[in-house]
Amino acid sequence: MDYKGRQTRLQTALEPSRLDGLLITHLPNIRYLCGFSGSAGAILISESKSVFFTDGRYKEQAQVEVQGSRIVVARKPPLSAAAEWLVANAKKLGAKTLGIEAEHLSVAERSRLAKALPSGLRLREAPPLVEQARMRKDAEEIERLRAAVLLGASLFEVALTAIRPGVKETEVAAELEYAARRAGADGMSFDTIIASGARSARPHGRASEAAIPANGFVVCDFGVILAGYCSDMTRTVHVGQPDEETQRVYAAVRDAQQAALETVGAGVSAGDVDRSARKVLQRKGLGMRFTHSTGHGVGLEIHEAPRLAAGQKDVLQPGMVITIEPGAYLPGVGGVRIEDMVVVTEQGCQILTPTGKELITI
Ligand code: ZN
Ligand code: ZN
Repeated sequence: MDYKGRQTRLQTALEPSRLDGLLITHLPNIRYLCGFSGSAGAILISESKSVFFTDGRYKEQAQVEVQGSRIVVARKPPLSAAAEWLVANAKKLGAKTLGIEAEHLSVAERSRLAKALPSGLRLREAPPLVEQARMRKDAEEIERLRAAVLLGASLFEVALTAIRPGVKETEVAAELEYAARRAGADGMSFDTIIASGARSARPHGRASEAAIPANGFVVCDFGVILAGYCSDMTRTVHVGQPDEETQRVYAAVRDAQQAALETVGAGVSAGDVDRSARKVLQRKGLGMRFTHSTGHGVGLEIHEAPRLAAGQKDVLQPGMVITIEPGAYLPGVGGVRIEDMVVVTEQGCQILTPTGKELITI
């Protein structure tokens, strides 16, 4: 990974944001900038310096992983170590404004940091510079995402074997998660969703103790983390013979997903992609049943920018990796969601998820 290049680009973005430095505490941002994958770290970036702080537990890991930054291993939390370093280097640095990631710093941490800083250095909430950079994936990231998606998709076969009337949702989730680890996944990218029967009408129905009924939809939404990168996919299957109305709802969601996929492309706004999916469902009388957004960016985190929702002005750019996942949920009856991961290209998009979308009956 081109950690040095990422840091250099961030350094050039500091001045236009009227910052002399940026203290990064959000772990995925730290990983993106220097490669560190541990759970205690902070990185300080100024126009000419890059210093990574961690504690003794991560000394060896930092030496192996961190690139492009000086490493400081301290006997105190990384944030305190960063403040101490700033006190010692205040004169040399001549910095006046230090950016912090307000979304990722607790109120207590902020006040501790403010107290520990040298006088003359003030804190400012920085714009999400690293998140913005992370939106467009480079070739190496796309390869990692592709590998994660393929591993994730292989789990759908496991789900198809495990889903049977009377089997608990948690048992199906357990089979998926076991297979994921066996195949080398770092872990799951979020709590596996296996939502059957009436529970499938809950868009975020985490696998429960409920037994899969003899007839109804089963929404399976799952993903893995592989080499740090997340996958995310949803398929909805039907246990027992689907009646006409059930098939109609499924087909409507599939058409909505197809319409959104066809809208994706460089230069298109995130809101337009959302609108194209919503329009199809509205035409089928299901507009009110589509209760969430159409998709989201995926990368080092399962949910990252951009967000594909009504009115979102973010413009899609080549290299963005996003999900397309419309759904329709009928309370008390059941729900359908179909989700793929795609890479935005100049002309449109490339679908990463290899799995078919015909309604599978079990
Ligand atoms: Zn999902
Ligand atoms: Zn998703």
